[in-house]
Amino acid sequence: MKKIAIIGGGISGLYFANILNNQKDFEYKIFEKKDNYNFLEGYGIQLSVNSIKLLNSIGFKNLPASEVSFPSKVNFIQANNSKKICDIDLTQFNDPLNRYTTLKRSTLLEFLFKNVPENQIKFNSNIKKIENANGFRITLDENKHEEFDYLIIADGIFSKTKSLIFNEVKNPKYNLNVALRGKLKGDYGSDISIYMGSNSHYVIYPVNQNNEYNFVAIIKKKLSSDELQNHDLFKSEEFLASLVSGLQKTSQISSKNLSELKSFPVYVSSKFISLNKKNIFLSGDALFAFPPSFAQGASQSIETANDILKSILSGTNEFYQERIRNISSINNKSKLNHFSFHLSNPINIFIRNKILKYLSKNETFLENYLGKIYRA
Ligand SMILES: Cc1cc2nc3c(=O)[nH]c(=O)nc-3n(C[C@H](O)[C@H](O)[C@H](O)COP(=O)(O)OP(=O)(O)OC[C@H]3O[C@@H](n4cnc5c(N)ncnc54)[C@H](O)[C@@H]3O)c2cc1C
Repeated sequence: MKKIAIIGGGISGLYFANILNNQKDFEYKIFEKKDNYNFLEGYGIQLSVNSIKLLNSIGFKNLPASEVSFPSKVNFIQANNSKKICDIDLTQFNDPLNRYTTLKRSTLLEFLFKNVPENQIKFNSNIKKIENANGFRITLDENKHEEFDYLIIADGIFSKTKSLIFNEVKNPKYNLNVALRGKLKGDYGSDISIYMGSNSHYVIYPVNQNNEYNFVAIIKKKLSSDELQNHDLFKSEEFLASLVSGLQKTSQISSKNLSELKSFPVYVSSKFISLNKKNIFLSGDALFAFPPSFAQGASQSIETANDILKSILSGTNEFYQERIRNISSINNKSKLNHFSFHLSNPINIFIRNKILKYLSKNETFLENYLGKIYRA
């Protein structure tokens, strides 16, 4: 029996644990820093068919239909006048069993967590040291040790484990944007709507069938390193209000239906770590975090975890290396999306809108840009 340590019980770590549940030759333990999960949080997440296919194979399709939503289109809207430019039909990437899905992040985490036996997740974990000789010896608080054959590093973008294992770790960098998230009450339809403003964009989509919507805005903002370190700043009413009023200058968003607003700086990875060991794998944001303008972070986290298991079972790093190549391409597309969603010069906006209208109906482009990722 081989033992696997999973550091971090986020989407990637929990999904990996779920697929290990079906493997008789492996046992695992998740080390999670938090003391528990907050399943009441209402923020949303979009999952494309590539990850839905993998989730459905572990029972995700049995979630009550009222807890998920299946948008059929992405609408592109100009934020300053709320005029729709065009839309992309998402159903062309669906198959009869797997559909593009939006839901609350907490619904996904709860689904993944419920299949993890209580004794296989250790909350409040504080890993002090990891020694790597034949296997791994993990030292926790109070000098307790545990030994493992494989190490899966899935502790998110600020992965501390990466620094414990690798000498040269490049810290993620602030990508000069702040994310503003909230819950939106009202009727905004059943699709995903992207409102493109000047140096900002925001996305609205349903998270279930109960008229609850996710609101997430990405707003360009220069911040000093002191401001970035100041966690209270991002929670302060004044800062949140300034982000909303900034958005209102270039859009018609009304603040009255917005609640539970939260903001945080957006960090992205700049480089992959070169991995040359067959028993260490990085997954999810710990492997690579891209700008959130392609809504692929969670989906890629799930796909990477799946490829890690395939690599472990086959004894080669082939699947994992292929995934890294895909992630590089998604990173470029995320940057391009971000750039085009944030244009401010009217001439550039006019040209972008013309191009978007054309490309949104061009099958060859859609297949190359989205199909290759969604149908992976
Ligand atoms: C604004 C925004 C919107 C997004 N929207 C989408 C979307 O719509 N669709 C999509 O696919 N992706 C989206 N993403 C990206 C997505 O959220 C992430 O890519 C995904 O959550 C990564 O999962 P993960 O498991 O790697 O990391 P996380 O979900 O961050 O989980 C890491 C876990 O590790 C734990 N941890 C941290 N440090 C330690 C430690 N030292 N020891 C033990 N445990 C530790 C944490 O507590 C956490 O539970 C968005 C991102 C942002 C910023």
